[in-house]
Amino acid sequence: MQEKGTISIHTENIFPIIKKFLYSDNEIFLRELVSNATDAIQKLKRLSSLGQYNGELGELQVAVKLDKENKTITISDNGIGMTAEEIKKYINQIAFSGATEFVEKFKDAKDANEIIGKFGLGFYSAFMVANVVEIQSLSYTEGAEPAKWVCDGSTEFEIGAGSKTSRGTDIILHINEESEEFLDEHKLHQILDKYCKFLPVPIKFGTRTESQPDGEDAEGKTQYKSVEVDNIINDTTPIWTKAPSDLADEDYKKFYSELYPFSEEPLFWIHLNVDYPFNLTGVLYFPKVKNELDLQRNKIKLFSRQVFITDEVKDIVPEFLMLLHGVIDSPDIPLNVSRSFLQADSNVKKINSYITKKVADKLSELFKKDRKEFEDKWQDIGLFVKYGMLSEEKFYEKAKEYALLQNTAKEYYTIEEYKTRIQDLQTDKEGTLVILYTSDAERHDSYIKAANNKGYDVLVMDSPIDLHFISSLEQKLEKVAFKRIDADIADKLIEKDVKVDHVLTEDETKKVTSIFEKAISRGDMNVSVESLSADDMPVTVTMDEFMRRMKDMSKTGGGMMGMYGMLPDNYKVSVNGNHKLIEKILKTTDEAEQAKLAKHAFDLALLSHGMLKGKDLTEFLTRSVSLI
Ligand code: ADP
Repeated sequence: MQEKGTISIHTENIFPIIKKFLYSDNEIFLRELVSNATDAIQKLKRLSSLGQYNGELGELQVAVKLDKENKTITISDNGIGMTAEEIKKYINQIAFSGATEFVEKFKDAKDANEIIGKFGLGFYSAFMVANVVEIQSLSYTEGAEPAKWVCDGSTEFEIGAGSKTSRGTDIILHINEESEEFLDEHKLHQILDKYCKFLPVPIKFGTRTESQPDGEDAEGKTQYKSVEVDNIINDTTPIWTKAPSDLADEDYKKFYSELYPFSEEPLFWIHLNVDYPFNLTGVLYFPKVKNELDLQRNKIKLFSRQVFITDEVKDIVPEFLMLLHGVIDSPDIPLNVSRSFLQADSNVKKINSYITKKVADKLSELFKKDRKEFEDKWQDIGLFVKYGMLSEEKFYEKAKEYALLQNTAKEYYTIEEYKTRIQDLQTDKEGTLVILYTSDAERHDSYIKAANNKGYDVLVMDSPIDLHFISSLEQKLEKVAFKRIDADIADKLIEKDVKVDHVLTEDETKKVTSIFEKAISRGDMNVSVESLSADDMPVTVTMDEFMRRMKDMSKTGGGMMGMYGMLPDNYKVSVNGNHKLIEKILKTTDEAEQAKLAKHAFDLALLSHGMLKGKDLTEFLTRSVSLI
């Protein structure tokens, strides 16, 4: 007996709306239908384990079949199945109880994920690609009659006796003309691989050939034949569903290479596993990252009960953790809501801080367990840790215990260790600890040598993030100031009360200043005479720390900072009054000769800091030749 009815929605025709709004994402029909099929099997398993189903379970699996000739895709399962009554209840009524609200709310929706599921529309996503959808189902209940439901995408449907002889459900999609791209084996495989690769029930799609033993030949050698076997496309127990104690390092590495083929081995990983107050499992990997250009976001895949949802985990994972790779699986992340709602969601907030804490703790554990190994990995994780410390206060609090600073001698110190290491020599007269650093050890070699000669230590801070990291440490640590090694002459980097005696008289000082000013004759250089050790360079060129930082910042940030970029460079030229060369210049009576020597000493200073270029460099070379 055939029965006709109308799908109980108050809207004239909902399918055109579904099609229109969801078009861009229409491949998710397969995810929705295969998930439903998987759920039906999981339900049967549960019933069986509870003793409410005593029949044979058989080989539980979902099969996806493509029939190009008849233009159909069929999704079959041998799960609980549905009676005609259940189809009426679950497919006709429940799914559309919120239809009016749905149409109102999502008139302007752009994202199919926002809609599907929220209103229990999973099944109806079939109409994005099919003009006719048929259900053939046989319930697991004893004596159940097979049922059939057909709907052509209007609000009319037909329900009646079906033809299914074995337990379970077939969903038959008659693919519409605009969606014929899905009548392609390769395409379907791709979609299944994306969304269904880790579903908990075997998913069969297509066949593949396998070599199987086929008796022995006359010499007793095994013969092989090629046979077609069912192709299972998924791994039903991916590592994040297993207990860490059952897994070896190799398992984690293997999984990583499956997720990201051709990637370098990860540095280490964190297995996440919580079930209270929210449910979350997953494995997060620390990739090898050498520089900021390498950083790849959107590498974390989000799953919900092993169904792939998205690799856009922004708003779910703290920004700095987006640099990690791996998998997060949580049924407690609301999937069908807008971004702003997501950010405000209390579970998402808890998940955020849980992951942050886990990552911070893992790093701490590595640091405590094997300091040497931690130091070796610092090149790769340092960037990440600094980024985290800058962006998350809670992470900073934990990471400050193990964040490392590296000096030019390639030694590593924690922040506290380093403070202790330098405090005797590098505390200035105000009691401020002055931390010296270089952003380019090659270029700053002569400054570094000069500082080392005074017993000062120099840190290497050469990544772009260090500029921000330094400012943040200065704000957080008390009485600590960072100074780049070329911010002043070594003697003045850290101001002390001691004075080195000046060998020049006041008149001589004025004279030297004027000789150098004339010889250099550049507006961006301010000459001053200093009393340095006779072994120091005769002339040193430096730029004030504050000024330089403002200029550096102006390069990266716009706004107010941009103004500093427009200011002219302003260097300080420190002439070493105690150097023999200055004595020589003063003794020279020929003014031209004086100017030449002064200019040459100045050029040498520029040269040693890589600042002598173009015409000046050529002149310098000519002058050098004439001098020798
Ligand atoms: P949701 O899965 O979000 O509940 P759907 O529209 O996808 O919404 O499905 C509605 C209901 O129809 C399901 O909850 C389930 O009871 C039933 N159903 C759908 N597909 C199957 C299937 N393959 N086997 C058994 N029941 C199914």
